[in-house]
Amino acid sequence: MSKIGYDDTPFLPNAPYRVHDGTRPQPPVVTPGAYGEPPSDAVVLFDGKDLSGWVSARDGGEAKWKVENGYMEVVPGTGDIETKEHFGDCQLHVEWMASVEATGESQGRSNSGVFLMGRYEIQVLDCYHNPTYPDGTTAAIYGQYPPLVNACRPPGEWQTYDIIWEAPRFDGETLVKPAYVTVLFNGIVVHHRTELIGPTTHRAILPYQPHPPTGPLRLQDHGDPVRFRNIWYRPLKGYDE
Ligand code: MG
Repeated sequence: MSKIGYDDTPFLPNAPYRVHDGTRPQPPVVTPGAYGEPPSDAVVLFDGKDLSGWVSARDGGEAKWKVENGYMEVVPGTGDIETKEHFGDCQLHVEWMASVEATGESQGRSNSGVFLMGRYEIQVLDCYHNPTYPDGTTAAIYGQYPPLVNACRPPGEWQTYDIIWEAPRFDGETLVKPAYVTVLFNGIVVHHRTELIGPTTHRAILPYQPHPPTGPLRLQDHGDPVRFRNIWYRPLKGYDE
């Protein structure tokens, strides 16, 4: 291979390389997934077959949601479930579907949730022609920030969340960096590196509480039979360093 790059260009201010430096490490090769498939370096959390990677968030026992036809479905009353895998900074992909039977209104229509590190909820809700309080609408950072737009598809259609998560950092009891999240809902940016106030909750504001640098992905049983499929993440190593 002929020589690539240049060795007579200025050094960059933030890296030990020159502009167009041919010795700079090549980005690792990742094979993008075929449509609807994870990329080659993804950690698959749910592949549509079983809940072997999941436990009950209530007691750590068996996850009792239903699995069929390549998706999992909330079994109301069995409680939230969470991954055995714990992780921090990541790119997360989740697909979900609201029940075709659009019953209920406001927070009562296909409510669920994607909880990063088990604490920080991106709301799952059917807000297709279903108004609710804006900081609790679909893809809201629950109780903190409405999404920039309502990009809901009708119930019965699969919808996607692509989330870039920067975990908060603690030094002992002290918060040294808050959490930041970017969310694309059905391919549309609805949060752009938004700083979280703290953990999410209902009707209250919670301060950050120190927690480990990794945590599970938790999915919410809010009493509605919401479906999920094709859940994977890619750790963002060195994202903060
Ligand atoms: Mg919810």
